[in-house]
Amino acid sequence: MKTYLSLGAGVDTTAILLMPDVMDKTDFVMFADTGGENPETYAYLNKYIKPYLEQIGKPLIVVHGEEKVRGEIKTNMEEAYLGWNIIPVRFLRHCTDKWKIKPMHKYLTETYPEEKLKVIIGFAYDEIQRVNSTRWKDQEVWYPLIEKKMTRDDCVRYILSKGFPIPPKSGCFYCPFQRLDQWKELRFKHPDLWQRAIILEKNGSHYPQMTLSNFKKKGSPLTLEDVDKQLGKSLYDYEFDPAEEECSGACMT
Ligand code: SF4
Repeated sequence: MKTYLSLGAGVDTTAILLMPDVMDKTDFVMFADTGGENPETYAYLNKYIKPYLEQIGKPLIVVHGEEKVRGEIKTNMEEAYLGWNIIPVRFLRHCTDKWKIKPMHKYLTETYPEEKLKVIIGFAYDEIQRVNSTRWKDQEVWYPLIEKKMTRDDCVRYILSKGFPIPPKSGCFYCPFQRLDQWKELRFKHPDLWQRAIILEKNGSHYPQMTLSNFKKKGSPLTLEDVDKQLGKSLYDYEFDPAEEECSGACMT
């Protein structure tokens, strides 16, 4: 049996990485990279996670989705969605399925065709409602944080107690499950990425009815461009419906 940690590079899975009792039973760590993580997440991966895994002797396997878009293979989700004229949407999970689950399954079935697999998922104790083992088909699923009754805040404290900084929120910069403060951070800290999110949204064939964010005005959806036009106005001044669910569990963000 091979046991691997499905790394989201956020708080939950970083806490697990630092748990010797779990990592002793882990053969490798796997990260599905959509190509759209925020620069801070890539920096944290390079500065803290990769050197730490090297130090404890656990391989990090990075996989990418691979989709044919108008005759061309794309390994970057943003480029693929631009080519398909679609956007990731909250009520469909094609982004997670195609760019997280599928590349992981492909790697695992090709590399371990006969082996039984156990996947470690980093849901915290206060995220127990996200548990959905059906995504993992015939793999065993292990939830160490739920087993240990560790909430997200416990994970933060644990990471700090181990001398590591808190990782930034992971996930695609155009993710439709972002909270208001994440869109705000993107708008003001990464104006280039914010503009790319606007382009991605506008390129969708159902624009402007279908939007990436859930900004609203008098109950009607606002596009990121609508929001952007009001430069200087605080994003907190808009109506904003938090997503009912978070980025799918498979993303572990
Ligand atoms: S982080 Fe968001 S956009 Fe990226 S794969 Fe997950 S749900 Fe989709």
